[in-house]
Amino acid sequence: MWGNDLNRTWDIAVVGSGFGGSLLAMIARRLGRSVVLVERGTHPRVVIGESSTPLSNLLIEELAARYDLPAVRPLAKWGSWRRDYPDVACGLKRGFTFHHHRLGSQAAEDSNRQDQLLVAASPRDEIADTHWYRADFDHLLVKEAQKLGVDYLDRVALHSFTDKSGAAVLEGRRDGQEVTLQARFVVDATGPRGFLHHALRLGENGLPGFPATQALYSHFSGVRRLAETPFHRTTDVPPYPIDDAAVHHIFDGGWIWVLRFGNGITSAGVAATDRVASQLGFADGLAAWEGLLEQIPALREQFATARAERPFIHIPRLSFRSGAIAGPRWALLPSAAGFVDPLLSTGFPLTLMGVERLAAILEQEWGTVAFNDRVQTYAAQTDRELLATARLVAALYATMKNFPVFVALSLLYFAAASYSEAARRLGKPHLVSSFLLCEHPVFGTVSAGLFERARRAMTADESAELIRDILTTIEPFNVAGLGRAERRNWYPVEASDLLENAHKLEASRQEVLAMLARCGFTADSTAQSDRGRGD
Ligand SMILES: Cc1cc2nc3c(=O)[nH]c(=O)nc-3n(C[C@H](O)[C@H](O)[C@H](O)COP(=O)(O)OP(=O)(O)OC[C@H]3O[C@@H](n4cnc5c(N)ncnc54)[C@H](O)[C@@H]3O)c2cc1C
Repeated sequence: MWGNDLNRTWDIAVVGSGFGGSLLAMIARRLGRSVVLVERGTHPRVVIGESSTPLSNLLIEELAARYDLPAVRPLAKWGSWRRDYPDVACGLKRGFTFHHHRLGSQAAEDSNRQDQLLVAASPRDEIADTHWYRADFDHLLVKEAQKLGVDYLDRVALHSFTDKSGAAVLEGRRDGQEVTLQARFVVDATGPRGFLHHALRLGENGLPGFPATQALYSHFSGVRRLAETPFHRTTDVPPYPIDDAAVHHIFDGGWIWVLRFGNGITSAGVAATDRVASQLGFADGLAAWEGLLEQIPALREQFATARAERPFIHIPRLSFRSGAIAGPRWALLPSAAGFVDPLLSTGFPLTLMGVERLAAILEQEWGTVAFNDRVQTYAAQTDRELLATARLVAALYATMKNFPVFVALSLLYFAAASYSEAARRLGKPHLVSSFLLCEHPVFGTVSAGLFERARRAMTADESAELIRDILTTIEPFNVAGLGRAERRNWYPVEASDLLENAHKLEASRQEVLAMLARCGFTADSTAQSDRGRGD
């Protein structure tokens, strides 16, 4: 590319070649646009943000089908990923595992499972979600983008954006040389406080009611499986192996994530309020991490033979909300527009929904007078969904010491997520046009009130009442048997739950059965759906 003439005007410049930027660049190429993808660093490189969700993977699958990206489609499921890309590391994510701890307490697991929550996301490994080893994953997507004709420029530090007669002019440096690029439209995919944040001085808006939080993390080798430590005492068979999941360890004011990859690396880190981060001394890196593990016997055991493979990274302020999300000739991807917290892995689905919406605008409105209005609508929706995510996660932070309420609030998220996934898979996207159903006239409004209540100090009676109200709110959307007392906080994925609740999705049992077959719910149906896509 560097040998070519840069003195031209591309239709679209995508700045930042994480998965979000590369995917959008590929789609824009498929839509016939000329595209330049600009990256500050070089691939492969390590970035954080690794755990996918059913909705993220469904969006990958839908984007791959709609925009004819056959190289991307296998990445939507653990089985096809491993078969088609054995050298691209990933982890197996069968669900979301939560354990509650009191720092410093030596107590073992509660035999009645009141200190845990297991929510399965898939019935078996083949069609399970994944943890993306981003060094490999993002590198693959950049190479695929280039194969589709995207011009890729790396090691470019852009510093300015100017809107000049018919094009945006981007200026920066590469190896000490000035670089100037021109494009009719710019998508900023550089993450929070990224390129346009500085170049256009977009400023920051607050996330009302969200606590100030920090993160500390690294990649480790030699991490044992939690199920093999003495901490794990139950003889019941869980809905999935508890380590093949996004594992969350919750304590008052913070939480730890543990994500295992198939290449022997485990990603682990902690996010916590400023109060807890300063008590633990996050700025000290390894020492803070070791101090925290000392207070959680299960993790001390699990990490006894672990070694950090990379220096610890401390993010002193996690949350971010851009002062603006779009303007003349530019838009931020949701991942550049804001970030709340890694809890519940909301970053990928929000980013991918943004990619989907921008792709639709490029497809339908490129070169029309409606283009700018549609981009502004996208910006407003991106902001509303960020705020809705912040309300949920703020409520979760407020209840980390009150685990039963934390569990109920999590079920609210899982109810919205599983309902959304099922509705989309049934071809009924109109039922679920917003993330977390936050714009649903009933669910969105009532949930916002529940989050607000959860953030206040509560008596035991008030907690119990809030839990009851949450379960009532989710009932019309609950297609996964969530909250059923006899399940004692373990929720498998059962076809019978979907079938019994088909009416909530405005679907018949036959439609649900056909959908389950299409998405490979059983081993037989995987073979069928693979044949359907011509593999
Ligand atoms: C601690 C932590 C944990 C997280 N865990 C999860 C999780 O488990 N699941 C989840 O869904 N989300 C998670 N997230 C959010 C997730 O990281 C983001 O949603 C995701 O990385 C967004 O991807 P992206 O491709 O849009 O941008 P990014 O991954 O942020 O990539 C941005 C790219 O832009 C490049 N770049 C930056 N500045 C410039 C510049 N000026 N010029 C050119 N290039 C530039 C960077 O080098 C990088 O390649 C987490 C976030 C944090 C902070």
